[in-house]
Amino acid sequence: MKEALRQDVVSYASGEYDYCMPPDLQIAARKISSVNPATAAVLQELVCPDEAEVSAAVERARAGKAGWAELGLGKRLAVLREFQRKVYARKSEIAAAITREAGKPVAEALVTEVLVVLDSARFLLENAFALLRDEPLPHGNLATKLKTGRLVRQPHGVIGIISPWNYPFSIPATETLAALVAGNAVVLKPSELTPLVALELASLLHAAGVPRDVFQVVVGEGPAGAALVRSPIDKLIFTGSVNTGKRIAAAAAERLLPVVLELGGKDPMLVLRDADVDVASSAAVWGAFVNAGQACLSVERCYVHRSLYARFAEACADKAKKLRVGNGMDANTDVGPMIHERQVRVVESHVEDARARGARILAGGSRLHELGSNFYAPTVLADVTHDMRIMREETFGPVLPMVPFDHDEEAVRLANDSEYGLAASIFTRDSDRGERLARRIHAGTVMVNDVISCFGISEAPHGGVKASGVGLTHGRFGLEEMVWLKYIDTDQMPGLKKVWWYGYGEAFRRQMEGFLDLQFAQGLSTRVRGALRATGTLLRKRL
Ligand code: NAD
Repeated sequence: MKEALRQDVVSYASGEYDYCMPPDLQIAARKISSVNPATAAVLQELVCPDEAEVSAAVERARAGKAGWAELGLGKRLAVLREFQRKVYARKSEIAAAITREAGKPVAEALVTEVLVVLDSARFLLENAFALLRDEPLPHGNLATKLKTGRLVRQPHGVIGIISPWNYPFSIPATETLAALVAGNAVVLKPSELTPLVALELASLLHAAGVPRDVFQVVVGEGPAGAALVRSPIDKLIFTGSVNTGKRIAAAAAERLLPVVLELGGKDPMLVLRDADVDVASSAAVWGAFVNAGQACLSVERCYVHRSLYARFAEACADKAKKLRVGNGMDANTDVGPMIHERQVRVVESHVEDARARGARILAGGSRLHELGSNFYAPTVLADVTHDMRIMREETFGPVLPMVPFDHDEEAVRLANDSEYGLAASIFTRDSDRGERLARRIHAGTVMVNDVISCFGISEAPHGGVKASGVGLTHGRFGLEEMVWLKYIDTDQMPGLKKVWWYGYGEAFRRQMEGFLDLQFAQGLSTRVRGALRATGTLLRKRL
């Protein structure tokens, strides 16, 4: 089975997907190398596409899309069910492939990637019929009461997906499944750091019955993504950093390409005075160090009530020191390597800035050179101030900085004082209090007494506010992004001319005034208006 997957990858890498870079972007590399971040071993080299080849892939997708959409939802869901079966059957190999290319521990890959994809398939299998079916739209305007309205959801056509490396399976897969189920074709440009996982996704989808042209992968660095944005796709779902997101939004504006932007975060965690220190510290440690801190929903800022601060900081430091850092292929590893040395340097610069400005390092604080260049020790920082880089910029590494606060108002103010608004968490023994505060936090998701795991709830919308993005993925609202809404308006009296189709004059003006009075004048009882509307509805049904 593993061999079959590998062969498919090779055929992508060296056969029909023999891509190269757009020359106008002056990128030296015509090839990318997939590298194991734990060992620095090159896993595979892949040739990248040029602009014309990216466009050709999109054209093939468009041609393939017609048959896919005509297949009907029932048959597309049968393919999805088969995909789900295949993912389940190959769960261990998929998790290992993720670990080899992205570094996270295998158990983590199973829970935060494979499980998320299986569950998102489950959600679509259970709900797609109800969510995508035509919807009658009753209306109350007396002037148009003889017309029926209907909402129809139509696939956009070809959806471009550009994805990051940190969740190389679950992010592109959940977006792809929603796009395909809705009847679209997909062209995916995965991160240049994790192309092999994307190619595994392709081989699973194709083996399940998705036609090759209906789901394609174009590998490459940023320029391959830029070429996809310029290609004739009908919508783009982008997940990545704020800087790239802004560039993409500007390029998309040129041609009014609709986009969903799932961008970075600087998620705050609030530990209220009544929180359970043991529970909250375990949550903070997992929330800050899972995937070596490289999660968009990571706990990146921790605000702790002053009465708990010392105990909480000590508990976090003790727990951080016990974490086993190493190669994610080792079943005993808690924290794997970071993806790339340049990401480690960002972490080093943020920790250095904090240390130079008075922060105390309670755990970690440096690279673990003995393990390799990409390993950074889980780091807990106390005596941090809100203006340090570690509290303002996305660190995207295994660092837990904490700041004390004195009252809830201050905690909410600090949490909201950020350019980001992806998610937040609040720890308290009083969940009503937690929910009250949650309403005041400016973020796409607020978890009360949990961190990060909202991403695994397939029904829940995922998306940010402020610099964290535009639009949604996952659940009902993520599926809605994959279709455009058409309103079909049918007049039930085809033989009748409308009174407002000209013939204006004083008499007509008076009639219209009377009609407006009938509907909106104060004093006319709601019963009379209700009766008029009911008569209109009855009349329409009779016709
Ligand atoms: P990135 O922005 O560097 O790259 C993301 C993708 O965009 C990659 O595939 C990359 O090749 C491509 N790209 C780069 N330049 C491009 C351009 N000019 N035009 C088109 N495509 C281009 O991000 P990354 O380092 O891969 O991922 C980490 C970032 O992603 C973090 O900021 C993290 O918070 C964010 N992220 C957000 C979410 C979310 O759901 N909100 C999820 C995961 C990661």
